[in-house]
This record gives sequence, structure tokens and C-alpha cells, in this order.
Amino acid sequence: MGKQEDFVLRALEERDVRFVRLWFTDVLGFLKSVAVAPAELEAAFAEGIGFDGSAIEGFARVYESDMLAKPDPSTFQILPWRETVSGPATARMFCDIVMPDGSPSYADPRFVLKRTLSKAAEKGFTFYTHPEIEFYLFKDVPQKGKSPLPVDRSGYFDHTAQSMGSDFRREAITMLEQMGISVEFSHHEGGPGQQEIDLRYADALSTADNIMTFRTVIREVALSQGIWASFMPKPYTEHPGSGMHTHVSLFEGDANAFYEPGAEYGLSKTARQFIAGVLLHAPEISVVTNQWVNSYKRLITGSEAPTHVSWGHNNRSAMVRVPMYKPLKGQSTRVEVRTIDAACNPYLAFAAVLAAGMKGIEDGYDLPREAEDDVWSLTDRERRALGLDALPTSLAEAISLAESSELLADTLGEHVFDFFLRNKRAEWQEYRGVVSPFERDRMLPIL
Ligand code: GLU
Ligand code: MG
Ligand code: MG
Repeated sequence: MGKQEDFVLRALEERDVRFVRLWFTDVLGFLKSVAVAPAELEAAFAEGIGFDGSAIEGFARVYESDMLAKPDPSTFQILPWRETVSGPATARMFCDIVMPDGSPSYADPRFVLKRTLSKAAEKGFTFYTHPEIEFYLFKDVPQKGKSPLPVDRSGYFDHTAQSMGSDFRREAITMLEQMGISVEFSHHEGGPGQQEIDLRYADALSTADNIMTFRTVIREVALSQGIWASFMPKPYTEHPGSGMHTHVSLFEGDANAFYEPGAEYGLSKTARQFIAGVLLHAPEISVVTNQWVNSYKRLITGSEAPTHVSWGHNNRSAMVRVPMYKPLKGQSTRVEVRTIDAACNPYLAFAAVLAAGMKGIEDGYDLPREAEDDVWSLTDRERRALGLDALPTSLAEAISLAESSELLADTLGEHVFDFFLRNKRAEWQEYRGVVSPFERDRMLPIL
């Protein structure tokens, strides 16, 4: 038993923990949890806790369903929303999923990310991410067929007296900090009831775990205040969607590999090649960064979400933006990937973005010209002339680009790739058959 495992076993006694929740994530990004008694933990650390993988979305076929969840002791935390003043506590740990022979499960999204991170590590790179997570707060639990009511009518950075949003953010952030997740910024976003909370940058595996915790904390706090939180990419036609812009950088040891003093925007060759990779492969990985039918309703003109493959240094219509806030501090050099939405599976999305960027470095891609204009205001012809390719405009288009992507198949691995695309095709087929209010409203009066 290692040091970290010992620490966890001691903490269980000291904090009087009665339940330990073992957390893992299915292929679509939903959190799964199994509670075990502390007495089971030694065995869980050694071999894992068995469960039926075929019951989890995307994990296994019925005939090979035995899987084990092996807790990662470095992720041990007490759950603040289950804490009482003097009573017993509940804790959680993220798990790696392993097969009965001890090998990692090919279906585990956390493993997909770990595998991609170790490929980058072989080249000497560590991948850091800093997500800006947007979400809406609604007055009530969602009701079928009804548009949800936002908790307020405020907008971007608004500060309103006694506003629901700031109370909410204060409580949520306190809870996140109690769980070891540092928050850098938080503010009201553009839509009514829409919030943004930005997590401090960390290595991509910790950030992906933190995003899963974040979603849980946000939902718990909302419920405790009698409201409802949603990460749906585009809940309203007339208001902006919820993105998860992610600032990314590569480090070589302690040095930021994206930084080169004196270079344009301080961007090193590595950074330029990385951006080129993210741009070139963006359409084929968008099924992962934007995985729902609804995701493509966010990627439209005029809602501050990207529609075309482009980059720029201070251009919010660009898909990749080079922030210019701290041009002198080289260590903070990073680029913001603006496609990713708040309802993605963060393990798979980070793996896909990293793989795309690494491909740019490995094959020495050239960075295309920066888009100086507001990409949304150009005509299709102007965009074509500038070489600005469109991002997929529907899940169907994203699926068909993904189907022929070697990069995505290699990154996800055969099992996740096949399951994922099968699942997405089924979602599209179901959606395609639904007659919408748009059609009725347009056609019934005239035809
Ligand atoms: N809500 C916008 C999106 O869907 C982003 C707004 C912003 O620039 O933060 O990407
Ligand atoms: Mg924002
Ligand atoms: Mg942003």
C-alpha cells in the first residue's frame, strides 16, 4: 500500500467517513457513482471493486461485462454537501476502470485521456487546461414541452443587488474550494440567468476530474437553493449558448513551451504548430467537442460562439483566440479554444484537442493567416477567399466528418470510437424524425 492510500485510510477514520463514493464517467460524460463502506477500501485499492460494465453507457458488451473500479487515492475529498456538523462524513475518489486481468479498460474515458497525455509526455510535454464553464440557472425543474424560466434578467458582468446569481456563485465557489478546486473568476454571463465560473489552470487530467466535480457541485447547490442548473449548450433560441472555452498550453518541465520572447504575440513555433493542428482537425473532432444535436444550435453567427475554423489575437469570432491580457508574462502564454461546449465529456474533448495539436507539432503544420476581421460579418465568398472553413453545422455533418477521421479513431481507440459514433447516429436519427414548432408555425398558415 502506497503513501497516498495510507493517507486516505487514516483520513477515513479521523473524519468518521461512513461512505466512500467511487466516481467514474461513462462515454457520454455522465458521472457514475458506487458507494462502498470504508472497510472495502483496502481491497478496492489493491484490486478494484467489481461492477457490471454492460449496465454503463458505452462500457462493455454483455458477454465481457465484468469490470473493476480502482480508486485513485490522489483524488480523495470529503463531499461538503453531505457534511453535517457532528455526524459522519461522505467522501469520494475518482476511479480508473480496469479489466479482470488488471489491464486498463479501453472504454474508460479517463484512460483515453491518460493515454493521450502519455503520448505527449513521450515528446516531453505536459498539457495544461483552464476551462471557463458557462451554464444557466432556471427557477424550476425542467418541464416537458416548456421553455424554462431564468432566475434573473441580468446580462454580462451585471451586478444586481440581492441577485440570485451572486448568492449562488458564492456558495458554489466556497464548496468547490472546500474540495480543493480553485476558482479564478466568476461572473454573470450574457444570457438571463446565465453564469460563468472559471477554474484555475491545472494538468488536463485534474481539470477533467474537476469539471466532473464542478457539474455535480453546481447541480447540488442549485437544488439546495430550490433552483435548477443546466449545462445544455443552447437552451434558448434568442440567448447565447453555454460554452466551455478552454485555455490550453504545453509545458516542457517548468517552462511554457508556447512562449518565445520576442516572437509575434510571444508564440513559439511549438505553439503555432499546435494551433495549426487544432484548426485543421477541428471539424473532424467536433463530434466530441460538441457532441449533441443541440450543440450545433450554439455554433451560429452572433452568439459569440465560433462558426468557422480561424484564429486571432483579439477576435472573439475566432475559433482559437490568443489572449493578450498579460503579454509580458511568458509563463502564462496560452491559447483559448472556443468550440468546446459545457455538455461535452471533458476527458474525451481534452484528449481530442491535445491529439490534434500534437499532430500539428509532429507533422510541422504551418499556421494559416490570422483572421483579423470579424469572421461572422464576412460573406461566404469572402470567407472562402480567406480559406476559412466552416465548422460542421449539424450533428449529422459532424458524424460524417468523424467517420473518416484517423486522428479521432486513434485517439478514442476502436471501442470508444465505434460506440460513440453508433450512439450519435442513433441520436441524429431520432431527432431527424421530429416535426418541430418551427415547421408548423411556418407552414400551417400558408400550406
Ligand atoms: N456564451 C458564448 C459561447 O457559447 C461565449 C461568451 C464569451 O465570450 O464568454 O461560446
Ligand atoms: Mg464566457
Ligand atoms: Mg472565453
